[in-house]
Amino acid sequence: MFCNQCEQVSKGLACTERGVCGKDADVQSLQEILLYGVKGMAAYSHHARRLGKTDESVNAFIEDALFATVTNVNFDIPSLLALVLECGKVNLRVMQLLDEGHVEAFGQPKITEVYEGTKAGPGILVTGHDLLDIKNLLEQTKGTGVNVYTHGEMLPAHMYPELSKYPHLAGHFGGAWQKQKQEFAQFTGPIVATTNCILIPPEVYKDRLFTLRATAVPGAKKILNDDYAEVIAAAQAASPLASQHVRSSTIGFHHSVLKSVAGPVVEAVKQGKLKRFFVIGGCDGAEVGRNYFAQYAASTPADTLILTVGCGKFRIRNENVGTFELPGVGAIPRILDMGQCNDSYGSIEIAVALAEAFGCGVNDLPLSIVLSWFEQKAVAVLLTLLHLGVKGIRIGPNPPAFVSPNVMRILKETFDLDIVGSNAVEDMEIASGTRPKKPPVSRLEIVT
Ligand code: SF4
Ligand code: SF4
Repeated sequence: MFCNQCEQVSKGLACTERGVCGKDADVQSLQEILLYGVKGMAAYSHHARRLGKTDESVNAFIEDALFATVTNVNFDIPSLLALVLECGKVNLRVMQLLDEGHVEAFGQPKITEVYEGTKAGPGILVTGHDLLDIKNLLEQTKGTGVNVYTHGEMLPAHMYPELSKYPHLAGHFGGAWQKQKQEFAQFTGPIVATTNCILIPPEVYKDRLFTLRATAVPGAKKILNDDYAEVIAAAQAASPLASQHVRSSTIGFHHSVLKSVAGPVVEAVKQGKLKRFFVIGGCDGAEVGRNYFAQYAASTPADTLILTVGCGKFRIRNENVGTFELPGVGAIPRILDMGQCNDSYGSIEIAVALAEAFGCGVNDLPLSIVLSWFEQKAVAVLLTLLHLGVKGIRIGPNPPAFVSPNVMRILKETFDLDIVGSNAVEDMEIASGTRPKKPPVSRLEIVT
């Protein structure tokens, strides 16, 4: 454990074995899980509030949760565990608010083909998650001759009609956040970072980087009052972008779109043509171990569908897994891009709808969930899945350092939660039931 939050801290540095107050590593772990879940939820809640979507019960829970982590308030593992799961419940409400806010503000999502690359002329690149920011920018760039491009988690902007209606929303450029130093250096125009995950910029593009609200990095300029005049002027003064079409991709498999083909999907499962659903997504990152998720996706059988969300999609979407012939509908991509990390809400909606259609519980569905995690929004989403009682989730590539061995053991026993293994193909086969389950030797137990 590591705690330095109060005056009686051990040796004036940190309590690392057991707190001077009596707090042990498991209490500290649960308090950190709660804190990180609340942080992630606050990010989603921030986006929802900007779209006019709030719920007083969310604010009240955030106060309760933060209060429970103050020194000498709560040393009780069962009540902290209950708060951790309550955080998942409240985060579900927050993701629902954000989903409603997106649809009300930007229209009913639809399947959309996206041009990836750049077009000749000046352009602005927008990264992060806040769709209201890109809407404001698109309004202000109307008639200026400046194109707007999405980057990273902004890719789903193209599926909303109130955003795609702007002809100068010209396309998508780049992949997940960890590649931004290379990609932003290549993009000659200004870059607007609306949220995480923003990296501290190198010299080569820091004078072209603009941030908003909570987002800030040394060397970048702050946009105030949603006024993009300076960004637009910078785009007009920069060297124009070249025409370069890298690829086209199909996105827009929002839960409402998938629900519209629920009948054929259920029928395909009943006929044995569709064997399993995989949710493979979350956050991407720089570690080599994240290739696990690409290998996992690549090895899934042809009679299965993969739902993906978050920037983890960039790790798997280059895998050529082909299409699935959905009876009565036609060929659909086997990798269905549902949107941003907050659109994990959509995969929950789909799972619940399927369970209702089959008259079973979510845990009885032919469904495997493999999540790549990086930061605290992923923690909030995981807590939501645990609150719903979803079992058998695998997370990776590395165990969260803030989960103590005992707390992990509780989560394993209660939810069959575990860290991904070292062989993605074997793990996929075990999840599919085509390979017998190995004796439970968790990588977490090896690490600890
Ligand atoms: S709250 Fe407890 S564990 Fe943390 S610094 Fe204070 S005495 Fe140590
Ligand atoms: S999905 Fe996670 S890692 Fe990726 S950009 Fe969003 S917050 Fe960052």
